[in-house]
Amino acid sequence: MHEMSIVMSIMETVEKECRKQQADEVESIELDIGMISGVEMEAFYFAWDAGTAKSILQKTTLKINRPPAKAECTVCGKTFIAQSSFDACPECGNPFCSIISGKELRIKRIVVIKN
Ligand SMILES: [Zn+2]
Repeated sequence: MHEMSIVMSIMETVEKECRKQQADEVESIELDIGMISGVEMEAFYFAWDAGTAKSILQKTTLKINRPPAKAECTVCGKTFIAQSSFDACPECGNPFCSIISGKELRIKRIVVIKN
């Protein structure tokens, strides 16, 4: 499952960060998961619960931001909110617009507790 491997890689990053900061608890973690990142949220939450059980992230508050998909027209330069990677420009109809955000999949913030 795609989402489980995402959770696993987040956990790896968090564990590294905890070692670096010599913390053994994580208060909260904030993620950016873009609207068109391809992550299935239901599957992600399921993977998160399963993957973080009995781990350092078991009691961590999970906050998820969903940046909207923004596209920029390569012809007229208009930026607009897209529903998918293949939306045409609402201004001039150009079907080849470039996605400038919404595909994010990153850890925005990790708050650790130092004992
Ligand atoms: Zn356009």
